[in-house]
Amino acid sequence: MPEQRKRIPGAPHGTGPGLRTRLVHALGDPDPRTGAIMPPLELATTFARGEDGSLPGPYIYGRQGNPARARLEAALAALEGGAEALAFASGSAAALSVLLGLGAGSSLAVDAEAYYGVRRLLTGLGPSLGLAIRSFDPRSEEDLARVLADRPGLVWLETPSHPLLRVTDLAAVIPRAHAAGALVLADNTLATPLGQSPLALGADLVLHATTKAIAGHSDASGGGLVVRDAASPLWARIRRIQVDGGAVPSPFDCYLVLRGLSTLAVRLAAMEESALRLAARLALHPAVHAVHHPSRPEHPDFEVARRQSGGGPALLAIQVRGGEAAAARVLGRVRLWTRATSFGGVHSLIEHRRLVEGEGSAVPADLLRLAVGLEDPEDLEEDLLQALEGWDSTA
Ligand SMILES: *Cc1c(COP(=O)(O)O)cnc(C)c1O
Repeated sequence: MPEQRKRIPGAPHGTGPGLRTRLVHALGDPDPRTGAIMPPLELATTFARGEDGSLPGPYIYGRQGNPARARLEAALAALEGGAEALAFASGSAAALSVLLGLGAGSSLAVDAEAYYGVRRLLTGLGPSLGLAIRSFDPRSEEDLARVLADRPGLVWLETPSHPLLRVTDLAAVIPRAHAAGALVLADNTLATPLGQSPLALGADLVLHATTKAIAGHSDASGGGLVVRDAASPLWARIRRIQVDGGAVPSPFDCYLVLRGLSTLAVRLAAMEESALRLAARLALHPAVHAVHHPSRPEHPDFEVARRQSGGGPALLAIQVRGGEAAAARVLGRVRLWTRATSFGGVHSLIEHRRLVEGEGSAVPADLLRLAVGLEDPEDLEEDLLQALEGWDSTA
């Protein structure tokens, strides 16, 4: 029996074959030449023409397209229920392609709690590209109305947010943005295509850093864009930017990302279960004064998350008593958790988010971000509890 996840409203994978079946079969049929059940890996950057100059298939040159990338793009489009997908060398390259596609003179409103790398890209490079960038809080009615009154060309959402895991009500915000004449992009990296379906809720574009949970093993960088309407002028420009700009993933990276995708459902289910368990346990710990995870009833977006999400995320943040020094102490004492940035891989990672984001970060100094991997949850819990031991109750 396919795993019965909570059904995601309007999800393209809500009916038909089970999700796990779809993910495995996204690898394609056995290779007719050899019977190999895993997709072949064609590394060629150029494709031979016949005597009359014709090509045997759709490929001319590696940057323009290749079989590994085509397989990955088809899988991403199917999974998000989109018309088409494009793969990039990283999530950031996908984001940059959107900025270039919008072009000089466009304006953009971005979630103030979006992934800091994307915010840095937008606010750092956007103005030199002739883009007007404004930050806003899509969970505040007042802020949403204020920013939409300026009639931005694109509204850039990311839910759950980084690292407080605030959840934006996509079904409420997207129609508002459309009514104001804006296109909507949703960065679905954290939620994954299994957690929520922004296109089904009206979004025009979905962005993924496939580097994270989709590739899933911290050994391949990648990005993806999925579009609802492949005839849109913006999409035509982004397509050109992918091919002519050339920030494309290698065939091997496409292979790794697609392979990761085939096991995404089972990996996520295990990771999300561990995250839930850790969130519940840490909420009871006297050294922890806040746990940020939308599964917690005290989370401000608990209800929205329940409506919108199929599960997860496999990420949580905690705030420890005693400020930055106490957070540093915990970080220094973990043995099983790896001190590293990123998430969605097999290793559980812990980081002091404010330190990683650097100057100007709005993340509280006593906050630790926990990216849950595939180790036994008992071991992960035990390690955190020993790292929290001996905290100063007077701090
Ligand atoms: C990591 C990440 C990105 C950027 O992806 P890279 O592959 O690191 O360039 C974009 N958005 C989100 C939500 C991310 O977590």
